[in-house]
Amino acid sequence: MTRPLDADVAVIGGGPAGGALAGYLAAAGRSVVVFEGTQFPRPHVGESLVPAANRVLGELGLLDQMEQEGFPRKYGAVWRAHGSRHTYDHDWQGVSTDCDASLRFAERAQEGVTRPFTYHVDRARFDHMVLERARTLGAQVHMPAKVRAVDLDADGAAELSVRHADGTTTTHRTRLVVDASGRATVLGRQLGLRVKDPVFNQLAAHTWFEDFDRGTDREDHIWIHFLPEPNAWVWQIPITDRITSFGVVTQKRNLAEAGSAEALFWGRIARCPELHSALRAARPVRPIRLEADYSYAMKRITGDRFLLVGDAARFVDPIFSSGVSVALNSARFASQAILAALERPRFDARDFDTYAQVLMRGTRTWHRFISVYYRLHVVFTWFIRHPEHRADVLRLLQGDVYDNENLPVLEAMEAMADAVESNPNHPLRGALGALTSHAFAPEQWLTAPA
Ligand SMILES: Cc1cc2nc3c(=O)[nH]c(=O)nc-3n(C[C@H](O)[C@H](O)[C@H](O)COP(=O)(O)OP(=O)(O)OC[C@H]3O[C@@H](n4cnc5c(N)ncnc54)[C@H](O)[C@@H]3O)c2cc1C
Repeated sequence: MTRPLDADVAVIGGGPAGGALAGYLAAAGRSVVVFEGTQFPRPHVGESLVPAANRVLGELGLLDQMEQEGFPRKYGAVWRAHGSRHTYDHDWQGVSTDCDASLRFAERAQEGVTRPFTYHVDRARFDHMVLERARTLGAQVHMPAKVRAVDLDADGAAELSVRHADGTTTTHRTRLVVDASGRATVLGRQLGLRVKDPVFNQLAAHTWFEDFDRGTDREDHIWIHFLPEPNAWVWQIPITDRITSFGVVTQKRNLAEAGSAEALFWGRIARCPELHSALRAARPVRPIRLEADYSYAMKRITGDRFLLVGDAARFVDPIFSSGVSVALNSARFASQAILAALERPRFDARDFDTYAQVLMRGTRTWHRFISVYYRLHVVFTWFIRHPEHRADVLRLLQGDVYDNENLPVLEAMEAMADAVESNPNHPLRGALGALTSHAFAPEQWLTAPA
């Protein structure tokens, strides 16, 4: 006799994608069970949100709690150049090509987003808050509970094998499985769907500092410090009044040359003397952690009994702080597709086509935007400074990337990067990056038969 179902939907992973998805499904009255492999709260990289995250937080009833939790408000972003590599004695159409730039989210109204700010978050507390919200809305949460394997065709249902902290293993049958396991990409690996981006082979070394002097100039913004070498930058994110997160991003091969995470971190920071002395005067409060191999895509993100959301579906690169917003918004779109599918006695992968298209439109836009940034970052700051293009770039940076792929501003940016790449005598030639990732087009697989 076939075992009865334990729930409509099983979610692998309780990060922002899994927590938000479970919250949406539970709020709509569906039975949903989340398996989170660690015990929350747990630290996680990815601390600065973009405003498109607010829409989901609002729908899940979490915006007031964001304030009560005291997460610092994020009003905008600053890009700051260090070193002569970023100083170009060249104006293009009357706009300087130097790299310093900044913007405030309040400059552009955003549909569905009522506040002119978003947040910087301590991910341990943020992720816990989102998951607890799902639990309050009716989701079952098992934690720590690690999904070891998924059988996607167990007598007309999906069956998950789950390992618990006491060493026991349980099995759970559901109509559908959502992989929200982040970069662990549980289903992507099991089904052989994961394809590494051969161009973005970046690495991040990051930690928290106490009492770093942020000064009084836009201290509530994220700061991106350009390092005086190609494809390298530093993030500065306020976590509390006293704690500031810093991360150095550079090419992975530089780790072997530096010898250790500490040497890589401090060696790159030393290239920005002002930042270096301010950080040396502050106190590191965590060991430096490394993140690598984080740029990849999936050949498919949906199947007859599964969907992938958040980082489990795709991750491009952290430069524009898009990850948590993509995780939350993918949960939102996936929940709509799942709720519609569950109304029917039968459903299959085709019922999730719209979800796949919308999410891929968004991540494709991020990928193009990030690619053009790494090809020629002065293009990016030039467009931010340009009075006619500023609002269109801001729209991308706010995370409004899902509803339209024909973005003239992206085409214009790509054309400008092409012009510099194809002209050896171009005055901005020295600013070219080394990552020409426009060669990586994983989306072509999405149209291939499953
Ligand atoms: C260097 C770096 C910097 C970043 N900076 C930013 C930033 O500033 N802003 C931003 O928005 N994003 C940033 N990101 C991206 C951000 O971290 C992710 O996009 C975001 O965490 C994705 O959320 P998620 O829920 O999909 O995955 P996760 O947050 O990774 O959650 C996945 C969960 O699944 C669990 N899990 C894994 N395997 C299993 C299993 N087998 N069984 C059960 N549970 C499992 C994990 O324990 C984890 O809790 C950055 C990423 C990197 C690499």
